[in-house]
Amino acid sequence: FAEHHTAGRHFLQIPGPSNVPDRVLRALDNPTMDHRGPDFGKLGARVLEKTKKIFNTESHVIIYPASGTGAWEAALVNTLSPGDKVLMCETGWFAHLWEEMAGRLGLLTELLKTDWRRGADVEGIEARLRADKNHEIKAVAVVHNETSTGATSRINEVRRAIDAAGHPALLLVDTISSLGSVDYRHDEWGVDVTVSGSQKGLMLPPGLSFNAVSAKALKASETAKLTRSFWDWKPMIASNATGYFPYTPATNMLYALDTALDMLFEEGLDNVFARHDRHGEATRRAVRAWGLEVQCEDPRHYSPVLTAVRLPEGHSANALRATILKKFNMSLGNGLGQLNDRVFRIGHLGDFGDLQLVGTLGGVEMGLAAAGIPHKPGLAAAMQYLNGNG
Ligand code: PLP
Repeated sequence: FAEHHTAGRHFLQIPGPSNVPDRVLRALDNPTMDHRGPDFGKLGARVLEKTKKIFNTESHVIIYPASGTGAWEAALVNTLSPGDKVLMCETGWFAHLWEEMAGRLGLLTELLKTDWRRGADVEGIEARLRADKNHEIKAVAVVHNETSTGATSRINEVRRAIDAAGHPALLLVDTISSLGSVDYRHDEWGVDVTVSGSQKGLMLPPGLSFNAVSAKALKASETAKLTRSFWDWKPMIASNATGYFPYTPATNMLYALDTALDMLFEEGLDNVFARHDRHGEATRRAVRAWGLEVQCEDPRHYSPVLTAVRLPEGHSANALRATILKKFNMSLGNGLGQLNDRVFRIGHLGDFGDLQLVGTLGGVEMGLAAAGIPHKPGLAAAMQYLNGNG
């Protein structure tokens, strides 16, 4: 293993991949089966049906053997044509990457900027759509939980803004770091394509990604002209009708998905979301008690998935992370793009409990001391909150 290996379990507290529960790991190591054989169709049909519940949708969910980036591309190439205009909200690094991808695919992107300290600018979306009298904008793309900053946008408000402007644009939403950790309603919020991935709230290893597809998006795919082959929804939907896939699916990852979804439903999704909210609040209380600043400034957009923490000027977040990894065997998320070395990110998503949070925050607090970063005690504030909110 790595040279920093110390005794005890590694703390994987980056904001995804998250910790994979042992029960999911046990499901993964079942024998790989014939993906064209009679048993596979039953598994495929069951998993496809169950997956819809996590998106809160009655329509199709496509499962790709790919990372989230693949599902980003799938959402764009299935619904849009070269030169189409897409309105994107630059909430942080991941929104930026999706925008760059759209540009490379031949779409015209227009960016609504933020200061990377809050979620999507809903008023800005409405104003821009109202001004677009000729309906040149074909899609609005928003990252639900911006993993680089720890800001969660209100997708229901984005929907209302589009409706208030009376605009026909498709709504594309990235839930790669929110699905399974934060309440999400594909149908109710009128989302056209929801993009997601396996390695965060769904508690799986990296390797699967998703598109939930509305009837309107499906209709758009009939005339959309961007080149697509591997990502094409059409052969997927045709094969999925009987529980199969047009090419070799990630068989063992589907066993794992089957089990992980069972675990989420057994706990109850509302309980899962409340657990993440509570861990987010406990974390922010520790950060404030340390005398540090949370990157997200708008309390309405605080992320239940992760907390990005700003360090005072003159202190290196990367050096702090390196110290914590070396001394305490814990991985924390790095600052991305303009936040490189300015913030570190604490992941509190997926299969995660109170004592894991206490251990995580304890590791950060000891790391702050070891790295010589001025701070006051903070762990106690988190523990006090957890005790009062059992
Ligand atoms: N979008 C968001 C919000 C993410 O957090 C990530 C990964 O962290 C991605 C997109 C990219 O997904 P992947 O790395 O699985 O391709």
